[in-house]
Formats: sequence, structure tokens, C-alpha cells
Amino acid sequence: MSAQVAVAGIPFDANSSFLRGPALAPGKIREAYRSDSANTFAESGRDLGSDAGWTDLGDLPVASPADFRNLKNRVHELAVQYPKLFVLGGDHSITAPVVRGIQAAHGNFSILHIDAHPDLYDNFEDNPDSHASPFARIMEEGLVQRLVQVGIRTLNAHQLQQAKRFGVEIIQMKHWNDNHVFTFDGPVYLSLDMDAIDPAFAPGVSHHEPGGFTSRQIIHLLHRLKGRIIGADLVEFNPSRDPSGITAMLAGKLYKEMLDLLLRTS
Ligand code: MN
Ligand code: MN
Repeated sequence: MSAQVAVAGIPFDANSSFLRGPALAPGKIREAYRSDSANTFAESGRDLGSDAGWTDLGDLPVASPADFRNLKNRVHELAVQYPKLFVLGGDHSITAPVVRGIQAAHGNFSILHIDAHPDLYDNFEDNPDSHASPFARIMEEGLVQRLVQVGIRTLNAHQLQQAKRFGVEIIQMKHWNDNHVFTFDGPVYLSLDMDAIDPAFAPGVSHHEPGGFTSRQIIHLLHRLKGRIIGADLVEFNPSRDPSGITAMLAGKLYKEMLDLLLRTS
């Protein structure tokens, strides 16, 4: 059987505003996934150790601003070849070129974005590609049908205004209900920023924002997702803030659960 899901790492963090480190994440996530301290099964019972239905293509290196601009084309090529892509960041800036590339191959879709932050800044520190701005660029370019954000707990006046301007649907963390049912017409792309999870569970991120999801709440959310998930990213894990390796193991766990989600929702 040919691969339905292709995994690619994007070891890039030059658009981070506060700390570097997420460029180290793809290697650390794969290391955690392969660790002898755990096994390769998702909680559904699917063994992800066999590569059945999916393949890891390795990393797409980004060494220059030109490489970053070219990411859209590289992702587009992969999205034509494989029905679904799963990208390991990297900081959140990579989501804009990844979404552009997938949209070029498959047309518009909806995005479910899980994050402590809305990442809707019109202009953050004079960098249009900042990891604080990918969803502003995506919405300006009209690439998606709907943008639904959950886990948000840092809305300021500017980003609230941006959300209204673009029609972003935000479920703030303070309003979260574990039994929320997401309903999407058509294909969905899932973008998971590790800082959506409470820093008590995931300290290895650049921006510690208390009051987030537990590990179990995120896994529960993934298990309950329905609809045709056509792509996903797991971003903002920062191994330089994770000396115990606990965030790496959570990222490795989410890697398996997200792979399982992509494989079971067709
Ligand atoms: Mn983010
Ligand atoms: Mn964030």
C-alpha cells in the first residue's frame, strides 16, 4: 500500500520573537517516538512502528530567507504526491508556507488551530513572517474557509480586532468544554502549538503561558475529532527548555496520536 500520510520535519526557528530552539524539535520528536522507554502504539491500538500507510521523508532544511519563501513550492510538490502531510516544526511561522502549499494542491479547507496565542499580529517586530503572525497572513490571502482557534488565553485588543476583521472563530481557554464537538464541512488542517498545553505538562516551549490544557485534554480532543483531516503540524516544541525530556515525550506521544488521527480520518 502506498503511503497516505507523509511526514516532513522543518527544523527552522529564525522567525521566533523571543527564544530560539524549535529548530531542534523534529529530531527530538523522532527520538522520543523511537525511545525504548515506550512503544510505538497509538491509544487506538494501531501500531505506528511498521510504517503501514505512512512514511517519514526526513527534513526540509531551511537555511536562508529564500529557502523559507520556497517552502510553499516544496510543500506543494509533496501535497501533490501524498494525500496528507504531517509537518514537524519548527516555530509557528512555518504554518503559513505549509498552508499555502497544501492549498495550491487541494484548494481551500478549514483550519483547527490549537494554541495559547492567536498568532494574528498584523506586524510583529517588523517581521511579516513572524511566528506571531502566520494566521494573519493566511486569512489575508483567503486560503481557508474557516479558522477555528482553541486554547487561546492571550487575546489583546489588537488581536481581538484582527479576529473580528477576519471572522476568526475563537474558543478561549476560559470557555473550554471537554465535550465540545467540532463540525466542519469539507477538509480540515490541524495546527497544534505545544504551548497550548499547560507549561506544567509541557515546559519545553518558548512562551510559558499558564492555564492551558492538560496532556489528557489534548489527547481527548484529538480522539474526538471527526471529519476529513488532510494535513497537520506540530510546532513550537523547544528542546532547549526541556532538560528533563518530559516535553519531548509528550511531543512524541502527540506525534503518534496525530499520525493515527490522519490515518483514520479519510
Ligand atoms: Mn503559535
Ligand atoms: Mn503559542
